[in-house]
Amino acid sequence: MHEQSLLFAEAAEKLSERGLNLIAVFDLAQLPKSIVATMEQSGADLSRFSRLVLLGNGGRLFFDELEKAELTVSDPIDTFSLHLTGQLIDEISAEGDINQIAYPQSSIMVPLQQLGELAGWGTPSPIGNSISAEYGLWFAFRSAFLTSIPLPPTRSDPVPSPCLTCVDKPCQTACPAGAVQQSSAEFKLQQCITHRLKDGSSCVETCLARLACPVGVEHRYPPHSISHLYRSSVLSIREWQGKN
Ligand code: SF4
Ligand code: SF4
Repeated sequence: MHEQSLLFAEAAEKLSERGLNLIAVFDLAQLPKSIVATMEQSGADLSRFSRLVLLGNGGRLFFDELEKAELTVSDPIDTFSLHLTGQLIDEISAEGDINQIAYPQSSIMVPLQQLGELAGWGTPSPIGNSISAEYGLWFAFRSAFLTSIPLPPTRSDPVPSPCLTCVDKPCQTACPAGAVQQSSAEFKLQQCITHRLKDGSSCVETCLARLACPVGVEHRYPPHSISHLYRSSVLSIREWQGKN
């Protein structure tokens, strides 16, 4: 195996032990045109790179490690993800290699859900988030970077959505706002937001639909991490609304 590929495998293993246990390498030349176009239209100069690396967390280990890191910044999840991603980049790079963070905290638009589907990590679910056959709704995209290093692309097969065989669809009945419909494309985002911003809303610190999903419940994030995630998103919505 090429030396940088070996270094990558070792560095990826270390990241996995810190909770970033989902890693996929895409050959930019093989990506669907729509994904490339989205990144280029948002300012990415892809001519300098040959690969896009996507990192994510499946399950709660990431949050256990985040807690141990005791970060006191306003955006601990992004900070921790970028710290681990930076470590990976440092460990695999040689002189002359070029790397650029594409997500988060970047103006580049990275079609995360589409890439997640290509990687076999998940498929769109009725609540809008991607769903994994293994982790259920308890996985997320944490970072992505472009690199000139010719890492071996990840091989993956399409995974059927667990929603296809979920007859009762408890996510739909659990949503108090009627936002969750039959498919991701039908998700009523504005109804969800309106409900979450109401005084005394049941969805300030959680998503009842997400909790109702029976897939991968053993991978559910710790309760205080769920509260933090959803409180932060309500604050972001309020901030965004204040600016518009
Ligand atoms: S409850 Fe069923 S339909 Fe809803 S996200 Fe989970 S698996 Fe999919
Ligand atoms: S956050 Fe609440 S309103 Fe929004 S989808 Fe989840 S359960 Fe429905």
